[in-house]
Amino acid sequence: MLKGRVAVVTGSTSGIGEAIARTFAEQGCSIMLNGFEERAAIENQCSELARAFGAEVLYNPADLAQANQCADLIEDAERRLGCVDILVNNAGIQHVSPIEDFPPDRWDCVLAINLTAAFHTIRKALPLMRRSGWGRVINVSSTHGLVASSGKAAYVAAKHGLLGLTKVVALETAGSGITCNAICPGWVRTPLVQTQIDVKAKSEGIALEEAARRLLLEKQPSGSFTTVEQISSLALFLCTAAASNITGASIPIDGGWLAQ
Ligand code: NAD
Repeated sequence: MLKGRVAVVTGSTSGIGEAIARTFAEQGCSIMLNGFEERAAIENQCSELARAFGAEVLYNPADLAQANQCADLIEDAERRLGCVDILVNNAGIQHVSPIEDFPPDRWDCVLAINLTAAFHTIRKALPLMRRSGWGRVINVSSTHGLVASSGKAAYVAAKHGLLGLTKVVALETAGSGITCNAICPGWVRTPLVQTQIDVKAKSEGIALEEAARRLLLEKQPSGSFTTVEQISSLALFLCTAAASNITGASIPIDGGWLAQ
């Protein structure tokens, strides 16, 4: 389905981004991976995807907290893979703390990676998409892009901001063959959420699985985690012709979290 296309997926060495890269590679897409991981694990990920699906899979180590490295990531993809058709802004970090104790450097870092990086990658990628008259920008926001939870000031602010950016890009690209949408997952059991489960288990003196169950029940009525494969399937759908008139949308995949 994506043969001949090139995708840049930020934060694709783990969790949701890794699953999106895999699903796209399976569809014949060339991939530029990005994220932090041991060198051997990254080499293994590249060669495994190439072997399994015959896709060209490269890696760029950009630290997305740095504006110039965001730009370099897109330029590197164009140089080595020829273009950028699909941009998935997925890299993200979390920091949980009441606002009075929120370390300002953590605020800056969460905003830089979860929001500002998407501005820098999008501004460099759009001209490449306009050149070919086709493009897909997919921003991985969160239910926290639409509602808040206490303790997550920077993350909630960044994810709300990312939805605003998504809408502006959708308007500025409307009718050009390019769409820009946001996916808003609820709880997904990746390392980002496992850290929160670990903290909960410790602070409440309960087993990990009980902490996971309680975390889910606080927010996600379905009582089950959204899987990374469900999210990558949604991202793939947004790249199909059937989705060509979906733009500027914020799409929850959250087990009913936002229905409450
Ligand atoms: P994860 O921790 O498994 O993966 C995060 C990825 O981002 C990793 O590849 C990591 O190396 C990369 N990354 C972190 N800092 C980076 C930096 N400075 N530069 C480049 N790469 C960097 O987390 P995940 O759960 O897969 O999260 C992916 C996205 O989904 C995030 O934006 C997150 O906010 C969002 N999200 C996650 C959940 C969830 O429940 N897991 C829910 C809603 C939204």
